[in-house]
Amino acid sequence: MFDLVVVGAGSGGVRAARIAATLGAKVAIIEERFFGGTCVNVGCVPKKLFSYGASFRDLFHLAADYGFNVAADTPFDWNTLRDNKTREIQRLNGIYRRLLDNAGVEIIEGRGVVVSADQVQVGERFIRGRNILIATGGLPFVPEIPGREHILISDDLFSLPALPARVAVVGGGYIACEFASILNGLGCEVHQIYRGDLFLRGFDQEVREFVATQVAHRGVHLHFSTDITAVAEHQGAKQLHLQDGSSMEVDAVFYATGRQPHVAGLFDGIQPDMAINGALGVDGTFQTSIPGVYAVGDVIDRVQLTPVALAEGMWLARHLFAPEQAGPAPEYDLVPTAVFCHPNIATVGLSQERALEKYGTIRVYRSEFRGMKYTLGDIQHRSLMKLVVDDTTDEVIGMHMVGDDAGEIIQGFAVAIRQRVTKADFDRTVGIHPTAAEEFVTLREGQVLG
Ligand code: NDP
Repeated sequence: MFDLVVVGAGSGGVRAARIAATLGAKVAIIEERFFGGTCVNVGCVPKKLFSYGASFRDLFHLAADYGFNVAADTPFDWNTLRDNKTREIQRLNGIYRRLLDNAGVEIIEGRGVVVSADQVQVGERFIRGRNILIATGGLPFVPEIPGREHILISDDLFSLPALPARVAVVGGGYIACEFASILNGLGCEVHQIYRGDLFLRGFDQEVREFVATQVAHRGVHLHFSTDITAVAEHQGAKQLHLQDGSSMEVDAVFYATGRQPHVAGLFDGIQPDMAINGALGVDGTFQTSIPGVYAVGDVIDRVQLTPVALAEGMWLARHLFAPEQAGPAPEYDLVPTAVFCHPNIATVGLSQERALEKYGTIRVYRSEFRGMKYTLGDIQHRSLMKLVVDDTTDEVIGMHMVGDDAGEIIQGFAVAIRQRVTKADFDRTVGIHPTAAEEFVTLREGQVLG
Protein backbone atom coordinates (compact mmCIF):
# COMPACT_ATOMS: atom_id res chain seq x y z
CA MET A 1 0.00 0.00 0.00
CA PHE A 2 1.45 3.35 -1.06
CA ASP A 3 0.74 6.60 0.78
CA LEU A 4 0.36 8.38 -2.56
CA VAL A 5 -0.18 7.06 -6.08
CA VAL A 6 0.30 9.77 -8.71
CA VAL A 7 -1.15 9.33 -12.19
CA GLY A 8 0.85 11.45 -14.65
CA ALA A 9 4.52 12.48 -14.46
CA GLY A 10 4.18 16.03 -15.72
CA SER A 11 5.01 19.22 -13.85
CA GLY A 12 2.35 18.88 -11.13
CA GLY A 13 2.64 15.13 -10.68
CA VAL A 14 6.43 14.97 -10.48
CA ARG A 15 6.56 17.87 -8.05
CA ALA A 16 3.93 16.33 -5.76
CA ALA A 17 5.57 12.89 -5.91
CA ARG A 18 9.04 14.21 -5.12
CA ILE A 19 7.97 16.43 -2.25
CA ALA A 20 5.77 13.70 -0.76
CA ALA A 21 8.62 11.16 -0.94
CA THR A 22 11.03 13.66 0.58
CA LEU A 23 8.56 14.07 3.45
CA GLY A 24 8.76 10.32 4.08
CA ALA A 25 5.69 9.12 2.18
CA LYS A 26 5.78 5.89 0.15
CA VAL A 27 5.02 7.12 -3.36
CA ALA A 28 4.41 5.58 -6.79
CA ILE A 29 4.08 7.52 -10.04
CA ILE A 30 2.47 6.17 -13.20
CA GLU A 31 3.32 7.56 -16.63
CA GLU A 32 2.39 6.25 -20.05
CA ARG A 33 4.15 8.72 -22.37
CA PHE A 34 7.07 10.86 -21.25
CA PHE A 35 8.60 12.16 -18.05
CA GLY A 36 8.20 15.88 -17.55
CA GLY A 37 4.83 16.00 -19.30
CA THR A 38 3.70 18.59 -21.82
CA CYS A 39 5.91 21.41 -20.54
CA VAL A 40 9.19 19.59 -20.93
CA ASN A 41 8.38 17.50 -24.00
CA VAL A 42 5.91 19.32 -26.24
CA GLY A 43 5.36 22.66 -24.56
CA CYS A 44 7.18 25.41 -22.67
CA VAL A 45 10.75 24.12 -22.93
CA PRO A 46 11.07 23.15 -26.62
CA LYS A 47 8.86 26.13 -27.53
CA LYS A 48 11.23 28.51 -25.76
CA LEU A 49 14.23 26.99 -27.55
CA PHE A 50 12.43 27.51 -30.87
CA SER A 51 11.52 31.03 -29.81
CA TYR A 52 15.20 31.79 -29.24
CA GLY A 53 15.94 30.28 -32.65
CA ALA A 54 13.35 32.49 -34.28
CA SER A 55 14.99 35.66 -32.99
CA PHE A 56 18.33 35.14 -34.75
CA ARG A 57 17.28 36.61 -38.08
CA ASP A 58 16.62 39.98 -36.44
CA LEU A 59 19.94 39.74 -34.64
CA PHE A 60 21.77 39.04 -37.91
CA HIS A 61 20.09 42.11 -39.40
CA LEU A 62 21.08 44.16 -36.39
CA ALA A 63 24.61 42.80 -36.33
CA ALA A 64 25.39 44.67 -39.54
CA ASP A 65 24.45 47.94 -37.84
CA TYR A 66 26.92 47.12 -35.10
CA GLY A 67 29.66 46.53 -37.65
CA PHE A 68 29.53 42.74 -37.93
CA ASN A 69 29.48 41.31 -41.39
CA VAL A 70 26.66 38.77 -40.96
CA ALA A 71 24.30 38.33 -43.90
CA ALA A 72 20.65 38.84 -42.87
CA ASP A 73 19.72 35.93 -45.17
CA THR A 74 22.15 33.50 -43.49
CA PRO A 75 20.71 30.05 -44.30
CA PHE A 76 18.76 28.28 -41.58
CA ASP A 77 18.75 24.51 -41.14
CA TRP A 78 15.56 23.26 -39.47
CA ASN A 79 16.92 19.75 -38.91
CA THR A 80 19.76 21.11 -36.78
CA LEU A 81 17.45 23.11 -34.53
CA ARG A 82 14.87 20.31 -34.24
CA ASP A 83 17.44 17.59 -33.49
CA ASN A 84 19.43 19.70 -31.02
CA LYS A 85 16.17 20.49 -29.28
CA THR A 86 15.25 16.79 -29.16
CA ARG A 87 18.62 15.90 -27.63
CA GLU A 88 18.14 18.51 -24.95
CA ILE A 89 14.63 17.26 -24.17
CA GLN A 90 15.91 13.69 -23.88
CA ARG A 91 18.51 14.94 -21.40
CA LEU A 92 15.76 16.62 -19.38
CA ASN A 93 13.62 13.44 -19.47
CA GLY A 94 16.54 11.61 -17.89
CA ILE A 95 16.89 14.29 -15.22
CA TYR A 96 13.19 14.07 -14.35
CA ARG A 97 13.44 10.30 -14.02
CA ARG A 98 16.52 10.51 -11.86
CA LEU A 99 14.90 13.12 -9.61
CA LEU A 100 12.08 10.68 -8.96
CA ASP A 101 14.44 7.74 -8.48
CA ASN A 102 16.67 9.69 -6.12
CA ALA A 103 13.66 10.73 -4.05
CA GLY A 104 12.71 7.04 -3.72
CA VAL A 105 9.55 7.26 -5.83
CA GLU A 106 8.56 4.00 -7.54
CA ILE A 107 8.14 4.58 -11.27
CA ILE A 108 5.50 2.53 -13.04
CA GLU A 109 5.31 2.82 -16.83
CA GLY A 110 1.91 2.34 -18.43
CA ARG A 111 -1.56 3.78 -18.53
CA GLY A 112 -3.23 4.26 -15.16
CA VAL A 113 -6.97 3.81 -14.75
CA VAL A 114 -8.50 4.75 -11.41
CA VAL A 115 -10.81 1.87 -10.49
CA SER A 116 -11.68 2.77 -6.90
CA ALA A 117 -10.97 5.42 -4.30
CA ASP A 118 -7.73 3.63 -3.41
CA GLN A 119 -6.73 1.62 -6.48
CA VAL A 120 -5.20 2.38 -9.86
CA GLN A 121 -4.96 -0.31 -12.51
CA VAL A 122 -1.94 -0.38 -14.82
CA GLY A 123 -2.26 -3.28 -17.25
CA GLU A 124 -2.69 -6.39 -15.09
CA ARG A 125 -1.39 -4.71 -11.98
CA PHE A 126 -3.45 -3.02 -9.26
CA ILE A 127 -1.64 -0.33 -7.30
CA ARG A 128 -3.16 0.59 -3.97
CA GLY A 129 -2.78 3.99 -2.40
CA ARG A 130 -4.18 5.75 0.65
CA ASN A 131 -4.30 8.83 -1.56
CA ILE A 132 -4.48 9.10 -5.33
CA LEU A 133 -3.41 12.18 -7.27
CA ILE A 134 -4.60 12.76 -10.83
CA ALA A 135 -2.12 14.95 -12.71
CA THR A 136 -2.78 13.90 -16.29
CA GLY A 137 -2.70 17.40 -17.78
CA GLY A 138 -4.45 18.36 -20.98
CA LEU A 139 -4.52 17.54 -24.66
CA PRO A 140 -4.87 19.85 -27.68
CA PHE A 141 -8.44 20.49 -28.80
CA VAL A 142 -9.27 20.74 -32.51
CA PRO A 143 -12.83 21.57 -33.62
CA GLU A 144 -14.67 19.12 -35.84
CA ILE A 145 -14.38 20.46 -39.39
CA PRO A 146 -14.23 18.69 -42.73
CA GLY A 147 -10.60 17.81 -43.49
CA ARG A 148 -9.62 17.69 -39.82
CA GLU A 149 -7.20 14.85 -40.64
CA HIS A 150 -4.97 17.35 -42.50
CA ILE A 151 -4.54 19.55 -39.44
CA LEU A 152 -1.38 19.68 -37.31
CA ILE A 153 -1.39 20.34 -33.55
CA SER A 154 1.34 21.76 -31.34
CA ASP A 155 2.76 18.28 -30.57
CA ASP A 156 3.46 17.84 -34.30
CA LEU A 157 5.43 21.06 -34.67
CA PHE A 158 8.20 19.80 -32.46
CA SER A 159 9.06 16.95 -34.80
CA LEU A 160 8.19 18.28 -38.27
CA PRO A 161 10.28 16.49 -40.93
CA ALA A 162 10.63 19.81 -42.80
CA LEU A 163 9.50 23.38 -42.28
CA PRO A 164 6.56 24.27 -44.53
CA ALA A 165 7.03 27.33 -46.72
CA ARG A 166 3.49 28.65 -46.06
CA VAL A 167 1.61 27.97 -42.82
CA ALA A 168 -1.81 28.87 -41.48
CA VAL A 169 -1.89 29.11 -37.69
CA VAL A 170 -5.42 28.99 -36.30
CA GLY A 171 -6.29 30.50 -32.92
CA GLY A 172 -5.62 33.65 -30.98
CA GLY A 173 -4.28 32.37 -27.66
CA TYR A 174 -0.85 31.67 -26.22
CA ILE A 175 0.14 28.81 -28.47
CA ALA A 176 -1.13 30.28 -31.75
CA CYS A 177 0.59 33.61 -31.10
CA GLU A 178 3.83 31.99 -30.02
CA PHE A 179 4.00 29.62 -32.99
CA ALA A 180 2.98 32.29 -35.50
CA SER A 181 6.03 34.28 -34.34
CA ILE A 182 8.30 31.24 -34.21
CA LEU A 183 7.42 30.05 -37.70
CA ASN A 184 7.64 33.60 -39.05
CA GLY A 185 11.04 34.09 -37.43
CA LEU A 186 12.31 30.81 -38.87
CA GLY A 187 11.38 31.98 -42.36
CA CYS A 188 7.90 30.57 -43.07
CA GLU A 189 5.16 32.70 -44.61
CA VAL A 190 2.64 32.74 -41.73
CA HIS A 191 -1.08 33.46 -41.83
CA GLN A 192 -2.65 33.65 -38.37
CA ILE A 193 -6.40 33.11 -38.52
CA TYR A 194 -8.52 34.05 -35.53
CA ARG A 195 -12.31 33.98 -35.21
CA GLY A 196 -12.59 37.12 -33.04
CA ASP A 197 -11.82 40.70 -33.97
CA LEU A 198 -8.54 40.81 -32.04
CA PHE A 199 -6.41 37.99 -30.65
CA LEU A 200 -5.26 37.41 -27.02
CA ARG A 201 -8.70 37.76 -25.48
CA GLY A 202 -8.45 38.53 -21.78
CA PHE A 203 -5.21 40.50 -22.06
CA ASP A 204 -5.17 44.31 -21.76
CA GLN A 205 -6.84 45.80 -24.84
CA GLU A 206 -4.00 48.20 -25.59
CA VAL A 207 -1.48 45.36 -25.25
CA ARG A 208 -3.51 43.31 -27.72
CA GLU A 209 -3.66 46.14 -30.24
CA PHE A 210 0.02 46.96 -29.82
CA VAL A 211 1.04 43.32 -30.26
CA ALA A 212 -1.10 43.02 -33.39
CA THR A 213 0.70 46.00 -34.93
CA GLN A 214 4.14 44.73 -33.94
CA VAL A 215 3.52 41.15 -35.03
CA ALA A 216 2.20 42.32 -38.40
CA HIS A 217 5.18 44.65 -38.75
CA ARG A 218 7.46 41.64 -38.30
CA GLY A 219 5.73 39.83 -41.12
CA VAL A 220 2.89 37.71 -39.73
CA HIS A 221 -0.24 38.05 -41.89
CA LEU A 222 -3.16 38.51 -39.51
CA HIS A 223 -6.66 37.43 -40.53
CA PHE A 224 -9.16 38.33 -37.80
CA SER A 225 -12.94 37.86 -37.68
CA THR A 226 -12.79 34.79 -39.86
CA ASP A 227 -12.44 31.05 -39.45
CA ILE A 228 -11.70 27.97 -41.49
CA THR A 229 -14.78 26.00 -42.47
CA ALA A 230 -13.00 23.14 -44.25
CA VAL A 231 -9.53 21.93 -45.19
CA ALA A 232 -8.83 19.94 -48.35
CA GLU A 233 -5.58 18.53 -49.68
CA HIS A 234 -4.59 19.10 -53.26
CA GLN A 235 -1.23 17.96 -54.67
CA GLY A 236 0.41 18.20 -51.26
CA ALA A 237 -0.90 21.71 -50.56
CA LYS A 238 -3.75 22.47 -48.16
CA GLN A 239 -6.73 24.41 -49.44
CA LEU A 240 -8.42 26.35 -46.67
CA HIS A 241 -12.02 27.38 -47.09
CA LEU A 242 -12.82 30.44 -45.02
CA GLN A 243 -16.10 31.69 -43.53
CA ASP A 244 -16.43 34.57 -45.99
CA GLY A 245 -16.34 32.16 -48.93
CA SER A 246 -12.73 32.93 -49.85
CA SER A 247 -9.98 30.32 -49.87
CA MET A 248 -6.27 30.20 -49.15
CA GLU A 249 -3.55 27.74 -50.11
CA VAL A 250 -0.81 26.83 -47.63
CA ASP A 251 1.57 23.94 -47.11
CA ALA A 252 0.52 23.22 -43.53
CA VAL A 253 -2.33 24.18 -41.25
CA PHE A 254 -1.75 24.21 -37.56
CA TYR A 255 -4.52 24.53 -34.95
CA ALA A 256 -3.94 25.97 -31.48
CA THR A 257 -7.54 26.28 -30.37
CA GLY A 258 -7.15 25.45 -26.72
CA ARG A 259 -6.40 22.39 -24.63
CA GLN A 260 -8.82 20.07 -22.86
CA PRO A 261 -8.35 18.20 -19.59
CA HIS A 262 -6.97 14.72 -20.22
CA VAL A 263 -9.62 12.57 -18.53
CA ALA A 264 -10.80 10.19 -21.27
CA GLY A 265 -10.66 6.60 -20.01
CA LEU A 266 -9.15 7.70 -16.72
CA PHE A 267 -11.87 6.24 -14.50
CA ASP A 268 -13.53 2.85 -14.52
CA GLY A 269 -16.29 2.04 -12.06
CA ILE A 270 -16.04 5.38 -10.28
CA GLN A 271 -16.53 8.89 -11.58
CA PRO A 272 -15.74 12.09 -9.68
CA ASP A 273 -17.78 15.22 -10.36
CA MET A 274 -16.66 17.25 -13.34
CA ALA A 275 -16.58 21.04 -13.77
CA ILE A 276 -18.55 22.59 -16.64
CA ASN A 277 -15.56 22.67 -19.01
CA GLY A 278 -14.87 18.93 -18.68
CA ALA A 279 -12.17 19.37 -16.06
CA LEU A 280 -12.11 17.56 -12.72
CA GLY A 281 -13.85 19.54 -10.03
CA VAL A 282 -11.80 19.97 -6.85
CA ASP A 283 -12.29 21.69 -3.49
CA GLY A 284 -9.93 24.09 -1.76
CA THR A 285 -7.56 21.21 -0.92
CA PHE A 286 -7.56 19.81 -4.50
CA GLN A 287 -9.72 16.89 -3.43
CA THR A 288 -12.22 15.65 -6.02
CA SER A 289 -15.73 14.60 -5.02
CA ILE A 290 -14.24 11.18 -4.17
CA PRO A 291 -12.51 11.36 -0.77
CA GLY A 292 -8.81 10.52 -1.07
CA VAL A 293 -8.70 11.23 -4.82
CA TYR A 294 -6.98 14.54 -5.60
CA ALA A 295 -6.15 16.41 -8.79
CA VAL A 296 -3.80 19.28 -9.74
CA GLY A 297 -2.60 21.04 -12.90
CA ASP A 298 -4.27 21.33 -16.30
CA VAL A 299 -6.71 18.50 -15.53
CA ILE A 300 -8.56 20.74 -13.04
CA ASP A 301 -10.60 23.83 -13.64
CA ARG A 302 -8.03 26.46 -12.65
CA VAL A 303 -5.12 28.12 -14.46
CA GLN A 304 -3.35 26.16 -17.23
CA LEU A 305 0.23 27.17 -16.47
CA THR A 306 3.21 25.02 -15.47
CA PRO A 307 4.24 27.09 -12.44
CA VAL A 308 0.67 26.92 -11.17
CA ALA A 309 0.69 23.11 -11.43
CA LEU A 310 4.04 23.06 -9.60
CA ALA A 311 2.66 25.22 -6.81
CA GLU A 312 -0.47 23.08 -6.53
CA GLY A 313 1.52 19.81 -6.50
CA MET A 314 3.92 21.08 -3.88
CA TRP A 315 1.18 22.46 -1.65
CA LEU A 316 -0.84 19.25 -1.86
CA ALA A 317 2.14 17.05 -0.93
CA ARG A 318 2.76 19.18 2.14
CA HIS A 319 -0.93 19.37 2.99
CA LEU A 320 -1.10 15.57 2.99
CA PHE A 321 2.23 14.68 4.59
CA ALA A 322 3.45 17.75 6.51
CA PRO A 323 0.44 20.01 7.03
CA GLU A 324 2.39 22.23 9.39
CA GLN A 325 4.64 23.20 6.43
CA ALA A 326 1.86 23.69 3.88
CA GLY A 327 0.87 27.32 4.50
CA PRO A 328 -2.06 28.79 2.61
CA ALA A 329 -3.26 27.08 -0.58
CA PRO A 330 -2.03 28.58 -3.89
CA GLU A 331 -3.71 31.85 -4.88
CA TYR A 332 -4.69 32.63 -8.43
CA ASP A 333 -5.23 36.38 -8.41
CA LEU A 334 -1.71 37.65 -9.14
CA VAL A 335 -0.23 34.95 -11.36
CA PRO A 336 2.34 36.56 -13.65
CA THR A 337 2.37 35.21 -17.17
CA ALA A 338 4.21 35.65 -20.46
CA VAL A 339 3.47 34.94 -24.09
CA PHE A 340 6.67 34.26 -25.99
CA CYS A 341 5.51 35.69 -29.26
CA HIS A 342 7.76 38.28 -30.89
CA PRO A 343 7.67 40.77 -29.29
CA ASN A 344 7.27 39.02 -25.92
CA ILE A 345 4.34 39.93 -23.72
CA ALA A 346 4.33 39.69 -19.93
CA THR A 347 1.73 40.73 -17.45
CA VAL A 348 0.76 40.53 -13.81
CA GLY A 349 -2.46 41.73 -12.24
CA LEU A 350 -5.38 43.37 -13.95
CA SER A 351 -5.86 44.72 -17.44
CA GLN A 352 -7.04 48.33 -17.70
CA GLU A 353 -10.52 47.09 -18.56
CA ARG A 354 -10.82 44.69 -15.60
CA ALA A 355 -9.30 47.28 -13.26
CA LEU A 356 -11.90 49.86 -14.31
CA GLU A 357 -14.69 47.37 -13.68
CA LYS A 358 -13.34 46.38 -10.29
CA TYR A 359 -12.00 49.67 -8.90
CA GLY A 360 -14.07 52.39 -10.60
CA THR A 361 -11.35 55.04 -10.80
CA ILE A 362 -7.84 54.15 -11.88
CA ARG A 363 -4.69 55.83 -13.12
CA VAL A 364 -2.87 54.48 -16.14
CA TYR A 365 0.79 55.20 -16.83
CA ARG A 366 2.28 54.15 -20.15
CA SER A 367 5.38 54.42 -22.21
CA GLU A 368 5.99 53.31 -25.77
CA PHE A 369 9.45 53.48 -27.27
CA ARG A 370 11.98 51.98 -29.62
CA GLY A 371 14.43 49.88 -27.60
CA MET A 372 17.95 51.31 -27.40
CA LYS A 373 19.41 48.17 -28.96
CA TYR A 374 17.53 48.93 -32.17
CA THR A 375 18.44 52.60 -32.41
CA LEU A 376 21.53 51.84 -34.47
CA GLY A 377 20.10 50.92 -37.82
CA ASP A 378 16.65 50.59 -39.26
CA ILE A 379 14.85 47.92 -37.16
CA GLN A 380 11.64 49.56 -35.96
CA HIS A 381 10.68 47.14 -33.13
CA ARG A 382 8.85 49.03 -30.39
CA SER A 383 8.06 48.26 -26.75
CA LEU A 384 5.10 49.12 -24.56
CA MET A 385 5.05 49.40 -20.79
CA LYS A 386 2.01 50.10 -18.75
CA LEU A 387 1.08 50.45 -15.08
CA VAL A 388 -2.49 50.34 -13.84
CA VAL A 389 -3.00 51.96 -10.42
CA ASP A 390 -5.99 52.07 -8.07
CA ASP A 391 -6.60 55.82 -7.78
CA THR A 392 -7.96 55.58 -4.25
CA THR A 393 -5.18 53.57 -2.58
CA ASP A 394 -2.32 54.25 -5.06
CA GLU A 395 -1.75 50.46 -5.23
CA VAL A 396 -0.31 49.12 -8.49
CA ILE A 397 -2.91 46.59 -9.59
CA GLY A 398 -1.75 45.78 -13.10
CA MET A 399 1.55 45.74 -14.93
CA HIS A 400 2.01 44.99 -18.60
CA MET A 401 4.96 44.88 -20.91
CA VAL A 402 5.46 44.13 -24.58
CA GLY A 403 9.06 43.97 -25.71
CA ASP A 404 12.37 42.16 -25.35
CA ASP A 405 12.72 40.14 -22.14
CA ALA A 406 9.24 41.14 -20.94
CA GLY A 407 8.94 37.89 -18.95
CA GLU A 408 12.29 38.42 -17.21
CA ILE A 409 11.34 41.96 -16.22
CA ILE A 410 7.77 41.29 -15.06
CA GLN A 411 8.88 38.26 -13.03
CA GLY A 412 10.90 40.53 -10.78
CA PHE A 413 8.21 43.14 -10.39
CA ALA A 414 5.60 40.43 -9.70
CA VAL A 415 7.12 39.95 -6.22
CA ALA A 416 6.51 43.62 -5.48
CA ILE A 417 2.99 43.53 -6.91
CA ARG A 418 2.22 40.59 -4.61
CA GLN A 419 3.38 42.75 -1.72
CA ARG A 420 0.75 45.28 -2.87
CA VAL A 421 3.20 48.09 -3.50
CA THR A 422 2.00 51.58 -4.41
CA LYS A 423 2.88 53.85 -7.28
CA ALA A 424 4.72 56.00 -4.71
CA ASP A 425 6.95 52.94 -3.99
CA PHE A 426 7.72 52.72 -7.70
CA ASP A 427 8.51 56.46 -7.75
CA ARG A 428 10.92 56.07 -4.82
CA THR A 429 12.77 53.24 -6.58
CA VAL A 430 15.90 54.27 -8.44
CA GLY A 431 16.11 53.04 -12.01
CA ILE A 432 18.99 51.01 -13.44
CA HIS A 433 20.28 53.09 -16.30
CA PRO A 434 20.18 52.51 -19.19
CA THR A 435 17.68 49.66 -19.23
CA ALA A 436 14.19 49.21 -20.61
CA ALA A 437 12.98 48.12 -17.16
CA GLU A 438 13.80 51.50 -15.61
CA GLU A 439 10.85 52.92 -17.54
CA PHE A 440 8.60 51.26 -14.99
CA VAL A 441 10.02 53.37 -12.15
CA THR A 442 10.22 56.61 -14.12
CA LEU A 443 6.63 56.79 -15.40
CA ARG A 444 5.25 60.13 -14.14
CA GLU A 445 2.30 61.28 -16.25
CA GLY A 446 -0.76 59.22 -15.29
CA GLN A 447 -4.14 59.39 -16.98
CA VAL A 448 -7.13 59.19 -14.63
CA LEU A 449 -9.89 56.95 -15.97
CA GLY A 450 -13.32 56.11 -14.64
P1 NDP B 1 -5.92 29.44 -25.35
O1 NDP B 1 -7.07 29.14 -24.52
O2 NDP B 1 -4.89 30.42 -24.88
O3 NDP B 1 -6.42 29.96 -26.77
C1 NDP B 1 -7.29 29.22 -27.55
C2 NDP B 1 -7.61 30.03 -28.78
O4 NDP B 1 -8.34 29.23 -29.69
C3 NDP B 1 -8.44 31.26 -28.47
O5 NDP B 1 -8.02 32.31 -29.28
C4 NDP B 1 -9.85 30.79 -28.84
O6 NDP B 1 -10.68 31.83 -29.27
C5 NDP B 1 -9.56 29.88 -30.01
N1 NDP B 1 -10.59 28.86 -30.18
C6 NDP B 1 -11.13 28.05 -29.23
N2 NDP B 1 -12.02 27.21 -29.77
C7 NDP B 1 -12.08 27.50 -31.08
C8 NDP B 1 -12.83 26.99 -32.15
N3 NDP B 1 -13.72 26.01 -31.98
N4 NDP B 1 -12.63 27.52 -33.36
C9 NDP B 1 -11.74 28.51 -33.55
N5 NDP B 1 -10.99 29.05 -32.57
C10 NDP B 1 -11.17 28.54 -31.34
O7 NDP B 1 -5.27 28.05 -25.69
P2 NDP B 1 -3.88 27.62 -26.31
O8 NDP B 1 -4.18 26.39 -27.08
O9 NDP B 1 -3.21 28.74 -27.00
O10 NDP B 1 -3.04 27.27 -25.01
C11 NDP B 1 -3.57 26.38 -24.02
C12 NDP B 1 -3.15 26.81 -22.65
O11 NDP B 1 -1.79 26.52 -22.49
C13 NDP B 1 -3.28 28.31 -22.42
O12 NDP B 1 -4.49 28.63 -21.80
C14 NDP B 1 -2.11 28.67 -21.55
O13 NDP B 1 -2.56 28.75 -20.22
C15 NDP B 1 -1.16 27.52 -21.71
N6 NDP B 1 0.06 27.98 -22.39
C16 NDP B 1 0.86 28.86 -21.75
C17 NDP B 1 2.00 29.33 -22.36
C18 NDP B 1 2.86 30.30 -21.65
O14 NDP B 1 2.77 30.42 -20.43
N7 NDP B 1 3.72 31.04 -22.35
C19 NDP B 1 2.39 28.92 -23.70
C20 NDP B 1 1.42 28.02 -24.30
C21 NDP B 1 0.32 27.58 -23.66
P3 NDP B 1 -11.51 32.77 -28.28
O15 NDP B 1 -10.52 33.66 -27.62
O16 NDP B 1 -12.42 33.49 -29.21
O17 NDP B 1 -12.21 31.84 -27.35
